[in-house]
Amino acid sequence: MSDEHRGATTASDGHRRAPDVIVVGAGLAGLACALDLCRAGRRVALLEASDGVGGRMRTDRRDGFLLDRGFQVFNTSYPQVKRRLDLRSLRLRPFTAGFVAHTAHGPVRLTDPTREPGAVRTLLSGRALSARDLAALAALTARDAVLPASTVRRRRDRSTSAALSTAGVSDDAIADVLRPFLAGVFLEERLETSARFFHLVWRSMVRGTLCLPADGVGAVPARLADGLPAGVLRLGTPVAEITDAGVLLGEGSEVPARAVVVATDAATAARLLPDLTVPDTRTVTTYYHATDRPPMAEPTLMVDSTGTVLNTCVLSEVAPTYAPPGTALISTSVLGTDPPGRGGAVLRRLAELYGTDTSDWHQVAARTVEGALPAMLPPWPLSRTARHGPGRYVCGDHRATGSVQGALASGARAAREVAADLAG
Ligand SMILES: Cc1cc2nc3c(=O)[nH]c(=O)nc-3n(C[C@H](O)[C@H](O)[C@H](O)COP(=O)(O)OP(=O)(O)OC[C@H]3O[C@@H](n4cnc5c(N)ncnc54)[C@H](O)[C@@H]3O)c2cc1C
Repeated sequence: MSDEHRGATTASDGHRRAPDVIVVGAGLAGLACALDLCRAGRRVALLEASDGVGGRMRTDRRDGFLLDRGFQVFNTSYPQVKRRLDLRSLRLRPFTAGFVAHTAHGPVRLTDPTREPGAVRTLLSGRALSARDLAALAALTARDAVLPASTVRRRRDRSTSAALSTAGVSDDAIADVLRPFLAGVFLEERLETSARFFHLVWRSMVRGTLCLPADGVGAVPARLADGLPAGVLRLGTPVAEITDAGVLLGEGSEVPARAVVVATDAATAARLLPDLTVPDTRTVTTYYHATDRPPMAEPTLMVDSTGTVLNTCVLSEVAPTYAPPGTALISTSVLGTDPPGRGGAVLRRLAELYGTDTSDWHQVAARTVEGALPAMLPPWPLSRTARHGPGRYVCGDHRATGSVQGALASGARAAREVAADLAG
């Protein structure tokens, strides 16, 4: 148990008063749900199978490196994030406001001109995008930034690729710049993901800052867990089954409760609640490499139009705390798993992307996350009820959107529905 979770107990901590509500899973959704129910005065048990909170948003420390469980970024503009977290306590380190796309015609830099006025000249030079594409993208961006989120929610849904074409963005601009970038956000490269989700993510990127907490992305759930009353969180407590009375723990004892909220990943939720329908999911692998000198001396995300890699960046240029002094840590993600030989191909592509010899780079770790994100195919409802049956609820990013905002909002909705039903 880490110092961050001093209030956590384990399954063997003996008899305690039966909870009103059991929340299964201490990822972001389960944490939000448990926090809101505790605030509403309910007795809650938050049961987590693993040895820490955060689920897909955890960070491991190894040999002085901070290794997030898959590359992800933290967005300051998510409403749930603003509501729940003291952002200063996360010691956030920003990425450059934009990215570099490696296209067949060489690298092009796309920078947000409202953050870096000098970028206007590069954009207008036509090297990154044609004047027509620039105008189409500017109009789309302005609409997403200004219109209320509720407008986006109400729009008829379609694929992101259809939405970009309808907005007037050319096939070349999609292939060279937008597809490589968005493939890293959706974890799929056909851009078949719901345009509703795309518009919300685009809006959040324009309105917020992409950054990393100095202690790794795992600091986000850790800060949330700090807000739980002592004794609520029980680590190392897998739930094997949902029973008529409550839940059956992996070690064989039953814990009764009036309400049970399943806040696990989609596959586990479908196992615990057999009549639940869950979406397919996306898989991603992130390679972490170390070297003596940063191959790029700026905190900028690079994306690859050949699709060999999704994206890469020098994490230690974003947050120096990610690597020991005198070492650079590079994160590189690819779609799918890590079959033999893929690591070598990635390293060769990194040599081209960074324009440097990578043969002496040392692979610190490779992390494959199966079920990293739900496949959000249109029409994708951005939020679904948590009610599954009498006293049975389900939440998680697969019930909202595959994002920090989606997971937290889904947990919040579950808490509202449980509280209303228990009061009723
Ligand atoms: C590689 C990667 C990159 C991402 N990048 C971004 C990004 O840049 N921006 C963004 O907004 N979002 C990103 N996301 C998405 C975001 O991290 C997830 O949507 C969110 O963390 C999901 O939270 P959750 O609570 O729904 O599920 P989970 O995090 O999966 O939590 C479920 C919890 O349930 C526990 N559990 C499972 N089974 C049991 C059981 N039987 N008993 C008890 N406990 C159980 C698990 O151990 C886990 O702690 C990314 C995700 C990944 C994987």
